[in-house]
Amino acid sequence: MTTQRKVELSYTEQQAVIDALLSNGEPNLADRLDRCMTSHRSLHYGDGSLFSCQSSACAWCRRAMIHGWWVGICDWATVTASLAILSIDASIGLLDATRHLRRAIRDVRDRVARHRNEWRDVRFAGIIGGDRRAMLMVSHERVDGCEVRDVMRRRWPSVLINEPGREEPVWEMSPENAAELGRCRRGVEPLRVGVMPQRQAITSPII
Ligand SMILES: [Zn+2]
Repeated sequence: MTTQRKVELSYTEQQAVIDALLSNGEPNLADRLDRCMTSHRSLHYGDGSLFSCQSSACAWCRRAMIHGWWVGICDWATVTASLAILSIDASIGLLDATRHLRRAIRDVRDRVARHRNEWRDVRFAGIIGGDRRAMLMVSHERVDGCEVRDVMRRRWPSVLINEPGREEPVWEMSPENAAELGRCRRGVEPLRVGVMPQRQAITSPII
């Protein structure tokens, strides 16, 4: 596909998001997306200045947000980290899927941590992409990568465990999902999955 064709497709898809927002009673947000699209189109053809709507409903702004979060997540992960890629159940919405996954990951970690102390500080951070794949960085300093894979496979048999590399969460999504995400007005936060370490037991009194 040529770059020109891709650009035109982005406009078509953005217009579908704008239509979805309008039919959901969001004229102001739809207007901001329209201005952002017009601004990008002008820039593409060499004139105009950039207006950025800062909405996760918008293809251009969401791409920057997801990339920014992903760079932050990769920086946050320790040297001993793995990339887990999970496919999400297609029967529920993207935002509900994120909530379910957050809870399921915490349950799995906590259950193992009950008999394997090393799992108390295994932590996860990631984003669910528009292709319904969750990209999760797993930090596991005191646990071997193979053990992480085995534990996760018991709950998600099709999980892929890779070395962290160049893969990023997919920012493209259906107009319906984009409109739903934008209406939350919380950037791409509703797609983030974070499971922090369990609180460490206090082993020495302060006083
Ligand atoms: Zn925008």
